[in-house]
This record gives sequence, structure tokens and C-alpha cells, in this order.
Amino acid sequence: MKEIESLPSFRPDSLDEYVGQEEIKKRLRIALQAAKLRSEPLDHVLLAGPPGLGKTTLAYVIARELRKNIYITSGPVIERGGDIAAILSSLEEGDVLFIDEIHRMSKPAEEVLYSALEDFQVDVMIGKGPTARSVRIRLKPFTLIGATTRSGLLSPPLRNRFGMIFELDFYSVDELTKIVERACQLMNIPIEREAAWLIAQRSRGTPRTALRLLKRVRDVATVRREERITPNTVLRTMDILEIDSLGLDEMDRKILRTIIEIYDGGPVGLEALAATLNVEIDTLKEVYEPYLLRSGLLVRTSRGRAATDLAYQHLGYKRVRGGLFDGYPAEPSEDKGKNCSGSLEGAS
Ligand code: ADP
Repeated sequence: MKEIESLPSFRPDSLDEYVGQEEIKKRLRIALQAAKLRSEPLDHVLLAGPPGLGKTTLAYVIARELRKNIYITSGPVIERGGDIAAILSSLEEGDVLFIDEIHRMSKPAEEVLYSALEDFQVDVMIGKGPTARSVRIRLKPFTLIGATTRSGLLSPPLRNRFGMIFELDFYSVDELTKIVERACQLMNIPIEREAAWLIAQRSRGTPRTALRLLKRVRDVATVRREERITPNTVLRTMDILEIDSLGLDEMDRKILRTIIEIYDGGPVGLEALAATLNVEIDTLKEVYEPYLLRSGLLVRTSRGRAATDLAYQHLGYKRVRGGLFDGYPAEPSEDKGKNCSGSLEGAS
């Protein structure tokens, strides 16, 4: 388990610096203020949302706002009930424990967590066989912040023990522009506003993607000996990375093309799609699908996933007839799949 004393460089320090997620921040501000006024630990918080949306960052910010230590661990490494009991009993009053991927914690560890969250105590078994006995350990009141890709992945008894459940949303292009500009300021890189906006537009609503793209754009600027990042630098980088005007990469386009070409636009079951694409179902569901759904390129129906008219248009396919699911083969037009040049249009 890592104790975090200082924040990594790009991470905002306070709720005011944390860009976007306004509703969540509003509710958190009240809860933080109330906890401080009552001198009580903050109620447990569950943060749900696709990777890279700022769950870990928000956990740091909460600990910072509380002026408490934060300890970081993750679900898959907590195997036994004793593991979580050891972590919990080392916390000081009001400390924050952040468990990433909390839905992947083992069942025995999860069961130990129930009484810890509710009554700040845990029962652990000492010894084995006939001499084994249960010992109750009182814990200092603490705040658990759990992170998961979807709150529905948590078992109801665990989910119900969180006082606040926040579903993080994708970021707008303007919000991502702010994040890119802030990172440039911290790295001392001059960037034109329009260039920051173009990066934001191709970042799939996700701060982590925006910062990753910014680094690649900076590489191109360095190699081309440019003193500032211009829209031209961004468009050149996106061409090299084959990222199109909606921020789709080769894998996203492959998913849509597979649905259109092999499954006549869908609907197709997730399992069949994952098998055809040779990717893990979970990766398809947690990493790729949310943004495709959100940007209106894919729809989820009771019979599976289907490509929308927008997907046909974006990839340059001509839909043969009107209906969405009527199973006629798609007819690719000539510029199929070449929609990679970064133009200013195209973001929804
Ligand atoms: P998650 O835990 O949801 O996978 P992270 O918290 O690790 O995502 O965020 C990924 C990166 O994006 C971090 O480096 C962080 O600096 C940046 N980031 C995320 N959300 C924000 C935000 N709201 N404001 C500013 N930067 C952010």
C-alpha cells in the first residue's frame, strides 16, 4: 500500500482546480464542509466511471481538502480478509483509504469490509483448526473511497454501504481544452488555444487521453523544432497516430467496421463481436464501448450492439436503405475509413 504525501505534478490540488464534474463537486463541497464542521470523517464515497476520467485524481483532491493522509491500494491485490483488516487497522482517524477497482476485491476481503464501513470494527480469525478464534478489532473512523468502472459491478451489500455514489461523466471539449492548457502551463509549453481545442476534441471526453495526446503532440513539436504548439502540429500528430476527427483510433474504427461489414450493421451480441475482433469482452465493454455509445456511433439494443447512421456516415459507408436493423448488407463507398485527416468539423 502506498501512502501519498504530495500530489503528482499534473493532478489538481483542490476541488476548485479540478475541472468539470460540476454536480459532483457541488455535492462534495457540502459533504466536506459538513464533515469538517462536525469534526467527523467524510462519509464513504464510491466513484464510478470509465478509466481516465479522474477518479483517482478526485480521491487525492478529497484527501487534500480534508487535510488527511491518503493510502492507495487496489481490489485485485486484496486477497484475504486479513489483508484488508491489516490495512484498515493501520489507518489514523479521518484518513482516506482509496481502493481502485474495488469490484475486483475477493469475497472474503469484501465481507470484512462490511462491518468496517458500518461500525468501524472488523472480526478476524486468528489461528487454524480447533484452536481458531475470532477477534474483534476496533478501527479509527476513516473514509473509504472506492473506484470502479461501473457501480453496477459492485455487490449490493457493498454498494449500499457507501454514503455517496458519484457517476463521473465524460468531459466536454471546453473542459478538456482547459485541462490541456493547464498541463501546458505546468510544463511550460506555449500552445495556441485552437491547438489545445483540437487535442481536446480528439480526446474521447477523457482527460487521460487528452494528456497522452498532448505528450505525442509535444514530441512532434520538438522534432520539428517548433517553439509553440499550433493547430498544424496537432493535425500532423493526429495523422501520424491515425486518430480521426472524432478521436477514434484504429481499434474503434475496426469495431464499427466489423459491425457494419460482417454483421450488416447489427445488432450483434457482445460475445460474438469480441470473438470476431479477438479482444476480451471486458475490454470491449469497459474501454471501447462507452465512448462509442456516448458519441452516438453505437447503440445498445436488447438484441446486441448496432452501428448508427452516424457511424456509417463517419466511416464513409452508404447505408443502402432506411431502417437501422433490417439486415441488408452495407455498401462501402470509395473513401471508406479514410476519415482520418484532422478537420475542425466532426465533433458532436
Ligand atoms: P481514473 O482514476 O478515473 O482512471 P485519473 O484520476 O488517473 O483517472 O486521471 C487521469 C489523468 O487525467 C490524471 O493524470 C489527471 O491529472 C488528469 N485529470 C483527470 N481528471 C481531471 C480533472 N477533472 N481536472 C484536471 N485533470 C484531470
